[in-house]
Amino acid sequence: MFCVECGKEGKTIRYGLCPDCYIKKYSPFFTLPKTVDLQRCVNCNAFKYKNSWLDTSLEKILKKILTSNTKTELKNTKIKIQCKEKQDSADCIVKASGYIEDIMIEEKHKILVRKIRAICQNCSRKAGGYFEAILQVRGKINKKIIKDVKEQIEKETLKGRKNAFISKIKETSNGIDFYIGKKEIARNIVKKLHEKFGGQIKTSPKLAGVKDGRKVYRMTYLLRLPDYRKGDFVKINDKIFLIKNITGKRINILDLTNWEKKSYSNFSNLKIEVVGRADDVEEAIVVSETEKELQIMLPGNYEVKEILKPKQIKLNSKTVNIFRYGNEIFLTPE
Ligand SMILES: [Zn+2]
Ligand SMILES: [Zn+2]
Repeated sequence: MFCVECGKEGKTIRYGLCPDCYIKKYSPFFTLPKTVDLQRCVNCNAFKYKNSWLDTSLEKILKKILTSNTKTELKNTKIKIQCKEKQDSADCIVKASGYIEDIMIEEKHKILVRKIRAICQNCSRKAGGYFEAILQVRGKINKKIIKDVKEQIEKETLKGRKNAFISKIKETSNGIDFYIGKKEIARNIVKKLHEKFGGQIKTSPKLAGVKDGRKVYRMTYLLRLPDYRKGDFVKINDKIFLIKNITGKRINILDLTNWEKKSYSNFSNLKIEVVGRADDVEEAIVVSETEKELQIMLPGNYEVKEILKPKQIKLNSKTVNIFRYGNEIFLTPE
């Protein structure tokens, strides 16, 4: 075949044109915009895409826009984007490629992205104090729980979920209240906290008003935490135990006199008294070891004491962990 344009002999692809002439005549194969306006939240940096706000990179948003709007006759197209971001704009280089039959065509386009300052719905609602649920945590609160709640909300925010925010955190004399933008998120968090720390959940709806003829409820999820945690020492029926693990469904404890494990699935009726916390564990120096006994030197007054091993174990270590309760000394596992 001869190319109708240049007369070269060889393969022609379309309209009697050789690949070179076809590409020259019909380039560019991608028609991309020169500028793209993107709304960006000045508060959280989320970009608006269609009707939602996404917490993602400029490149990813631009790729979404270009791939959904670009028509080309090329097959197996690929778009690669690299942007240099400035305060209110970005210079982007788009490498678009694709195939006509087995010939690869690659084009480079420049796009100016203008970042339009905006406030996303989540941020404006959050600033307005909007909430659908209050998560109340009562009992022994620590920083870990506060961090936990915040992290879970952040995870939901990253998924681009609407109203995934805490609009207020209120510390009260006996606990902490989280005002949360979305009911379902508050419910999931309370469930997870309960699985992790145990305790009791109480749910109560409160009528907040009427919207479009339907009653709107705000939910209060109250989690009353148990006084004890994993790693604490407790007294049950006059015996001292170490809490190995605790969830909403189960408590695993270790009898410190013989290191035997016990597990209760229903323990809300069990009388549990806290006698020590995880940080009450002390380190004692091992003076000597026999099959059944240990001679240790106590921290503080360097008093040497003999204690029975809870079970036949060979320690071979220079120090051991102990828990003291009254005059009793218990060996605790590492
Ligand atoms: Zn030609
Ligand atoms: Zn925002």
